[in-house]
Amino acid sequence: MMKAKILVVDDEPPFELMIRKIFRKEINENQYAFFFARNGEDALHTLEEIGDIEMLLTDINMPVMDGLALMAEVEKRFPDLVTIVISAYGDIQNIRKTMNAGAFDFLVKPLSREDLKMTLVKAMKQILKNRELQQAYREKELAQRELVDNLKRMDRTKDEFLTSVSHELLTPLNGIVGIADSLADGAVGPVSDDMCDNLQMIVSSGKRLTSLVHDILDISKMKNSELKLMTQPLDLRPVIEVVLSLSQPLVGIKPLVLRKEFPTSFPRVLADENRVEQILHNLIGNAVKYTPSGEVCVFLEHDESNAYISIRDSGIGIPEHKFEAIFMPFEQMDGSMTRPYGGAGLGLSITRQLVQLQNGQIDLKSEVGKGSTFTFSLPLVPGDGPVIADPVVAPNLVHEVRHLEKSVDMPQPVTENGFRILAVDDEPVNQRVLQNQFTIEGYHVDTVGSGYEALEAVATNACYDLVLLDVMMPGLNGFDVCRKLRENFSLVELPILILTAKNHTRAYLEGISCGANDYLAKPFDKSELMARAKTLLSLRQAVAQTIEHTRHLESERLKRGLAENLRKITETLTSTLELKEVLARFLECLAPVCFYSRALIVLKKQDRVELAIAKGFGDDSVLTSSHQVAETFLPLTEAHDEALVINYDSSESNHGALSIGIEVSLVAAPFFTKGIQIGLILLERDKPRKFRPQECELLSAFAGQAAIAIENAQLFEKVQVMAKTEELTGLNNRRHFFSLGNDAFEHAVSEGRPLSAIMLDVDHFKMCNDTYGHAVGDEVLQTVAKRIMIACRRSDILGRYGGEEFAIILPDTTLEVAKDVAERLRIEIQKNQASRKENIKITASLGVAELDRTVHNLGELLQRADVALYRAKEKGRNCSLTYPEAQVP
Ligand code: ADP
Repeated sequence: MMKAKILVVDDEPPFELMIRKIFRKEINENQYAFFFARNGEDALHTLEEIGDIEMLLTDINMPVMDGLALMAEVEKRFPDLVTIVISAYGDIQNIRKTMNAGAFDFLVKPLSREDLKMTLVKAMKQILKNRELQQAYREKELAQRELVDNLKRMDRTKDEFLTSVSHELLTPLNGIVGIADSLADGAVGPVSDDMCDNLQMIVSSGKRLTSLVHDILDISKMKNSELKLMTQPLDLRPVIEVVLSLSQPLVGIKPLVLRKEFPTSFPRVLADENRVEQILHNLIGNAVKYTPSGEVCVFLEHDESNAYISIRDSGIGIPEHKFEAIFMPFEQMDGSMTRPYGGAGLGLSITRQLVQLQNGQIDLKSEVGKGSTFTFSLPLVPGDGPVIADPVVAPNLVHEVRHLEKSVDMPQPVTENGFRILAVDDEPVNQRVLQNQFTIEGYHVDTVGSGYEALEAVATNACYDLVLLDVMMPGLNGFDVCRKLRENFSLVELPILILTAKNHTRAYLEGISCGANDYLAKPFDKSELMARAKTLLSLRQAVAQTIEHTRHLESERLKRGLAENLRKITETLTSTLELKEVLARFLECLAPVCFYSRALIVLKKQDRVELAIAKGFGDDSVLTSSHQVAETFLPLTEAHDEALVINYDSSESNHGALSIGIEVSLVAAPFFTKGIQIGLILLERDKPRKFRPQECELLSAFAGQAAIAIENAQLFEKVQVMAKTEELTGLNNRRHFFSLGNDAFEHAVSEGRPLSAIMLDVDHFKMCNDTYGHAVGDEVLQTVAKRIMIACRRSDILGRYGGEEFAIILPDTTLEVAKDVAERLRIEIQKNQASRKENIKITASLGVAELDRTVHNLGELLQRADVALYRAKEKGRNCSLTYPEAQVP
């Protein structure tokens, strides 16, 4: 048994000793543990400090705080303590008081040892009983808490289950309503009246279920405080008018009038427009539902801080004892009264919560058989004046008015059957709904089940006028599809209407920001969807017409711009006669009007094709193959006199000949002057930007201008060559020979390089000339010139010196080498006959000299070679001599 802690309170010290003596055995056996205090206050401290003292043994008469006061405190602070009071015999009145104050027992001084022991045993029994009771209580409490926790958990699970099931229900419900509705409208053939009635029943049951699901979702949102309100100053009247119009169909054939009573001016309230609408739909809907005949009237009142909106009906009424209950979820009046009306009993519960969330109250007055009036309040905008009734519908209600499409005239598409729509939804049911609805109205509808299929459909069949796009799809979601489509199509080229069950502002914003034109939350109203689609289509058509008009103006402007560009390019090209410069400028002028990655120009030169300029080729092998391509194109473009485009794809084998190795688009334009092709320009662009027909046209026009400039430059080049060469032999004329020779001389002197000169004279030329005539003489001179060209190096400077005399300057050549060259020349000249007509063999004499320090200029060097030549002639012709050698007689 657990030991008991006992507090003994007495102001006489011997009392403590006595207690210790009496209970020595129990103390030693750990049965009792005693604590001692001298007065009430002291005792309270000890109780506080020790904490688990279960028994109190107290005197009554004590200083500072007596036993009675202590008992009163203990009663308050330690109600479980078992108290035994000890007092003098005459104190019986006080003992009674302490017993009334809750003492367990009392003892009278002087104490009897036996009595004391027995009383403590008895008290111990009470303590044990207390302990058991407490234990039982604790266990019960624990079990209860567990039960509550379990219940709460189950409630949460139920809510989660309801929410997720509700979400899941929306799509199929939407499908059922949509398909039934379109079937009733004759989407897949005519329907009999009977069938139509049945289908309409499916539609209205489906709609009822849908609204129930929305109610459940709303309740769960409110329970979890997830319902976000967008409160703003709101004029109630247009909202009420819209709800009244929308409720009209609910009346059906009942003799029931829907009315409103508005003051001419009414202040605005602070509320969420959508939620106010929802409240009104519930209350007006109920009023219509529970009123077989008479009227439903909405009227407005206000005081200085609140507006009061009342919906009064002349219906079946509500008994007073139900006033509170009908606002509870799933609570309805007795079945007998409301059975014929349907409903789940959620509407009023939601309505009241929505009103309260917007800082309002809802109130009910009703009399059974006479009717009911539901009044709810909403706070006024502080300091806002009254608003005068405006006959024009408020702009924020425009979308609602579209609800009323049946009564309002909407713009019809200009061509009844011309529009093509792509509907994207992974739910076959939804696809069918959209297909049915739009097909009835004469649209062509294609449906696909995923984002990827949608992109492919648009890519292969880019003539859609509208895309209806679901958001939640596996793989690529609707927002991504929208973004991808917008990379290639503007808002007016391809309108996109997003349809989704996500009815959140965030989702709406996301839709708009990724390029959607409009957004409609599921379940959507058929006529609203049609109205929105039609608006987008008409808009698209109007914009397309405007664009067409603008395009026409633009092309006129372009034509004028092209002429101006051509004038500029001609000006630039004709400002130089240097061929390389002309070509470089041409490529430069071309870049801004016809962007290219690489360009090259080839020009025809008599019997070959020469690469004249190349731009943008980093890699020689690419240049070589492009050069080959250009040559292949030359004969192709010969036939056309305009640019030829080949959008070359290396994966297409039919262009295998053009092995460029990268995917490119090529365009080639020929240069023509006076009907003759003189060359070709080839432009290359890496895929995917192919050359467009307009660019080819531009290139052709520009190439025409360039051809003229190229021809001019080529002519100029010819003239320049002519100014330097001697007409008969094509060698440098004397002037040019000296100019080149002097440069070579200066260079050799300054760099200390060797330099030699050879003078050559045709032997017996005069005689030949006289015998065969000038023509043959000229032919002989041409032959000699040719043979000189053959025997000499490129770097040698060759010139006709005069008459039958030729001079050659050999840079970087010593006398020894020059001597060999002269000998080679001599042999070359005498090789064959020198005229095609006459069998004449000719020879030549040659003199060779080398630059040394004693030579001061080119003239002196040639002079020395001439001296050597003279000696060679003297020596008997057909030989070569060198200057120093010739000097020595
Ligand atoms: P539901 O209409 O779906 O049953 P509500 O929460 O909207 O659920 O309404 C709860 C109950 O209150 C209804 O079942 C009906 O009995 C009663 N009630 C509500 N509005 C009216 C009204 N205007 N006239 C008579 N009874 C009403």
